[in-house]
Amino acid sequence: METTWEHRLRSAGLRVTRPRLSVLGVLAEHSHVDADTIATAARVVHPSISPQAVYGVLKALVGGGLARRIEPAGAPALYELRVGDNHHHLVCRECGDVADVDCAVGAAPCLTPSDAAGFVVDEAEVVFWGLCAGCQVARRQHGYGAGIAIRGGATA
Ligand SMILES: [Zn+2]
Ligand SMILES: [Zn+2]
Ligand SMILES: [Zn+2]
Repeated sequence: METTWEHRLRSAGLRVTRPRLSVLGVLAEHSHVDADTIATAARVVHPSISPQAVYGVLKALVGGGLARRIEPAGAPALYELRVGDNHHHLVCRECGDVADVDCAVGAAPCLTPSDAAGFVVDEAEVVFWGLCAGCQVARRQHGYGAGIAIRGGATA
């Protein structure tokens, strides 16, 4: 019997290969992971898979529309299986944690420039930056004032 992943690979015009299935398996368990983390996890089930092979697989999956690549500024590219809904991301400045947030519009581009200057706009990249709940707690416990990261123990 054909599994869902095999069917989805074929529907995307991609051959079914063990490396591709291994990487899809990793992505199904973790969202917003970088290629190195995926390669390490994929080697658990497929010991001979090389980092280069993982990069190749990720490129094919993104090209085939089975995975999405996001690139928060200053962080390595992250991959996820949630595709096609133009959802956005909340990124923690402190720990790099990433959370999904639905797009109110649901399709790109969900923002219109005040003046498109003759461009045909197909995407607006929306990233919300801030502090995750865990890092807010950690800051409070370390005695930092809300939103002010000053080392040295002065209480705000
Ligand atoms: Zn955080
Ligand atoms: Zn996401
Ligand atoms: Zn949006």
